[in-house]
Amino acid sequence: MIFDKQYDMIVVGAGPGGSVAAREAAEKGLKVLLLERDREIGIPVRCGEAVGISGLLEFFDKEHDIVQKYRKKYKIRFVAPNGQVLDLNHESEAAVLDRKFFDAELGRMASLAGVTVVTMANVTGLVIEDNFVRGVKFIYQGKKHEILSKIVIAADGVESRVGRWSGINTTPKFNDIESCVQYTMSDIDVEEDRMDFYFGKEVAPTGYLWVFPKGERTANVGLGINGEYSRKKKAVKYLDDFVDKNFPGGSIINTTCGGVICGETLEKISGNGIMLVGDAAHQTNAITGGGIINAMKAGKISAAVAKVAIEKNDFSENILKQYDKKWHKKQGKANHKFYIIKSIIENIDNEILNRITEELNSKPFKKRTLIKIFTKVLIKYPKLILELPKLFN
Ligand SMILES: Cc1cc2nc3c(=O)[nH]c(=O)nc-3n(C[C@H](O)[C@H](O)[C@H](O)COP(=O)(O)OP(=O)(O)OC[C@H]3O[C@@H](n4cnc5c(N)ncnc54)[C@H](O)[C@@H]3O)c2cc1C
Repeated sequence: MIFDKQYDMIVVGAGPGGSVAAREAAEKGLKVLLLERDREIGIPVRCGEAVGISGLLEFFDKEHDIVQKYRKKYKIRFVAPNGQVLDLNHESEAAVLDRKFFDAELGRMASLAGVTVVTMANVTGLVIEDNFVRGVKFIYQGKKHEILSKIVIAADGVESRVGRWSGINTTPKFNDIESCVQYTMSDIDVEEDRMDFYFGKEVAPTGYLWVFPKGERTANVGLGINGEYSRKKKAVKYLDDFVDKNFPGGSIINTTCGGVICGETLEKISGNGIMLVGDAAHQTNAITGGGIINAMKAGKISAAVAKVAIEKNDFSENILKQYDKKWHKKQGKANHKFYIIKSIIENIDNEILNRITEELNSKPFKKRTLIKIFTKVLIKYPKLILELPKLFN
């Protein structure tokens, strides 16, 4: 592989955020290098793989294979701490992706748009001069490289180091880190068109457990719990207890674990010559922990701002902070609200969840909606009412 001495943009990390940033920038005429440290884009998978269709359609034509293959209407089931089932009057059009295929396809699309995509390229540092990020250092096939670029995109995921190297404080609050673990299980009894969510202190304290179907008798079964709880009992132990009880005899064909930052987006996500995208910028939805679509949205915005910076030949924070503004306008404010809601609902106790489920189950099916649940929570949890002004400010 022969590298050029300089690119307009170097993207670190070929997850959904990085690949979309790279592709969008190349489509705008920028010369882009995308560096991924793993041997294969999309592997290992660390994800429940569920996304809403509306998010996907922001990036793919509805005829695209990915939309065609995974688009589906799902019923939603909540299971209360005491095991009571609540089938919601809500159908969600969603996709349970195959991230191996999805991420690889995004990488391929970037390459077709003109991006130079390189795997097994481990970025080990930044070139910094006069308080400006001017490029990256990386190791490829045992050889050290130092390549310059006008803009670096740090899309290196939840364990991001690139942002920190540039001097941006990326440390999450301990309380915002969720420990997640997931099994892809086969030969289990699951409805292929229903997503199940289990709540309660015994199942997944402060978080939830998901069962996302992936074809015949197969599903992603995973959970996320607050880091504080995982100190006392490991997330995997919670999952094992659940699986032993609910899916005995099923096979575990894949195990994955990882952290998700269920907090707010970092206040500062750009600096001189650099923008942070996706998990690296803490852009996940604080309630669900979903971050695929948000990373892609951020990638798209960062590319648009990069294009403006290139046109002005100015890569300073002054210009790049347009990215911060645009992100916070498009999604950051919503994430802030999700964060407030999350910090309240994570403390709702089992008893209240059981009672709400019971009350909703006594109503006709058509009244069992998400809005009704939220209203019930408000009534049962007056503390939330006091927090409402924060949501609307
Ligand atoms: C168990 C679990 C379940 C989840 N379930 C869902 C879900 O159902 N739906 C959803 O929307 N989100 C889910 N998420 C979150 C989702 O996986 C992330 O938000 C999403 O992948 C973020 O995309 P990204 O592009 O920011 O980062 P990533 O997808 O993490 O990509 C970062 C890339 O950077 C590369 N990289 C890192 N360091 C370097 C380096 N130094 N040099 C070169 N390359 C580097 C990595 O190898 C990686 O490929 C889940 C997360 C976990 C852990």
